[in-house]
Amino acid sequence: MTASQQVIAAARACTLCADLPLGPKPVFQVHPEAKILIVGQAPGTKAHEAGRPFQDMSGKRLRDWLGVDETTFYDPTKIAFMPMGFCYPGRLPRGGDCPPREVCAPTWHPRMLAMMGEVGMTFLVGSYALNRYLGERVKGRKLADVVADWRDFAPDYVPAPHPSPRNTMWLKRYPVFEAEVLPFVRQRVRELLG
Ligand code: SF4
Repeated sequence: MTASQQVIAAARACTLCADLPLGPKPVFQVHPEAKILIVGQAPGTKAHEAGRPFQDMSGKRLRDWLGVDETTFYDPTKIAFMPMGFCYPGRLPRGGDCPPREVCAPTWHPRMLAMMGEVGMTFLVGSYALNRYLGERVKGRKLADVVADWRDFAPDYVPAPHPSPRNTMWLKRYPVFEAEVLPFVRQRVRELLG
């Protein structure tokens, strides 16, 4: 077994969060040859059931944002998915999903990043991913302001809202994302995937 296969096998068998409502079932997609990395939040119930990331309407929108078909999207040698929490975290009493488990990203991200040396663009979806990867540069700032300054982080990082249908109004309110960021993203995806 190669070192990267060992990391993947260890992550798949992770049971650090024994109290998860549906139990540990890590959902991620990584490969040493991946060219694009999506750092999302945590799987929803559909992704949990399917064992595949973005197995819902959010995935459809994300494919449109990237300009790729489903085959490319789920090809680990092209696109990697490394959520901030690999397992479904459950629901909050007031609605919406619980935050990703804090222990997950520090435990697994560094080991997975170390095996993916060909990533040319990291798409940061939502505030948890932004805070981890852009740190002080985005601390305390609104997502809309960070997205407006996207050129400060590109081409290595691209700040983005979650592609959930719930964010349709956000996208209308802040058109810079679709007007400026997405054309750059699609061009970069074409370059990286050849
Ligand atoms: S959320 Fe992450 S750390 Fe917790 S059990 Fe799942 S894979 Fe392990």
